[in-house]
Amino acid sequence: MAFKPISEIGEFGLIERLAKITTPSTKQRPELLEGIGDDCAVWRIDESVVQVVTTDLLAEHVHFDLLTTPLHHLGSKAISVNVSDICAMNAMPDYALISIAVPPKMPVEMVEELYRGIEHAASVYGLAIAGGDTSSSASGLFISVSMTGTTTPELLALRKGASPGDLICVTGTLGGSTAGLHLLQREKATMIEQMRNNEPYNKEVMAELQEYAEAIRSHLLPEARIDIIDFFSEEGIVPTAMIDISDGLVADLGHLCRRSGVGATIDESKLPVLAEARAVAEEFQQDAFDWALTGGEDYQLLFTLPKSQYDLVAAHRDITVIGEITEKEEGLLLTDIFGITIDMAEMKPGFDHFAG
Ligand code: ADP
Ligand code: MG
Repeated sequence: MAFKPISEIGEFGLIERLAKITTPSTKQRPELLEGIGDDCAVWRIDESVVQVVTTDLLAEHVHFDLLTTPLHHLGSKAISVNVSDICAMNAMPDYALISIAVPPKMPVEMVEELYRGIEHAASVYGLAIAGGDTSSSASGLFISVSMTGTTTPELLALRKGASPGDLICVTGTLGGSTAGLHLLQREKATMIEQMRNNEPYNKEVMAELQEYAEAIRSHLLPEARIDIIDFFSEEGIVPTAMIDISDGLVADLGHLCRRSGVGATIDESKLPVLAEARAVAEEFQQDAFDWALTGGEDYQLLFTLPKSQYDLVAAHRDITVIGEITEKEEGLLLTDIFGITIDMAEMKPGFDHFAG
């Protein structure tokens, strides 16, 4: 048997192959409404309640760098990224289990600080930390959070369900997390350089970080859009399809369209790019629109609605209509700021853990 490196098929190729192996077990449970392939697994509890469940693993050196990430923030982010997947189902979070693998020499106080961040976020979102698991780690810190939430069969929103003609909407702003990451990585490089040269720490770097507090915050301390789920509930809105933006707008819109069997056209000039991200991108001589399209980890919601419901979201200051769902044959198209049509399938596909 010839062995294939995972990097050849990528993260999503790997998940597809694993899903094939586990298909028989899913057939044993007809109450399972959605298995692998959506933001959460979904199963029916009874006629009026469905449970949604998600899990996310954060690995040191892959997802975070302890030199630039305060542990309190990291704990909070570990919770927020899971709440974001629960929100993507139009559900509310209930319980979380936390598993950690910790290098034996890590001070107890650091783990406690991580947990204070976890507890703070859990309190804000109104969910309970109900257990977990603890192991030592031979290499770096690992944090895995699993979370449950509930909704009703009528309110449940999946990645599938979008139809041609639906509006494509996005919450909040995009590009902030990538801008924040660039700033933090630059600060780390400067800090290491100064330490190497035995120079005192340059306060100007800190001043600049404060100037871009919103971008840094989007990266270190993203907030799940539970407020939008409340808004949907108040207005009686049920998106036809929804996903949260963790891999990047282009990649996540791709997931939504693939599951829905549709195409999409989005208008670059409509993208709600964070103002600070534009300023940071200019400093780095990069394109803020590119960060908004393919940079991940903004944890905003991307959803679709029938055009007839436009009035329900039009007045919301944190919801932007960025395009329209089309027939599958039309593909995924972007009209750029110069009016040129670009095939999004040709763009960088977003975050892939195994991309070479
Ligand atoms: P998200 O970005 O919303 O967290 P992912 O891209 O991590 O979603 O996962 C996509 C889908 O694949 C989800 O339904 C998830 O449950 C499933 N999945 C990911 N990794 C595995 C795995 N190792 N085994 C089984 N299912 C997985
Ligand atoms: Mg998701």
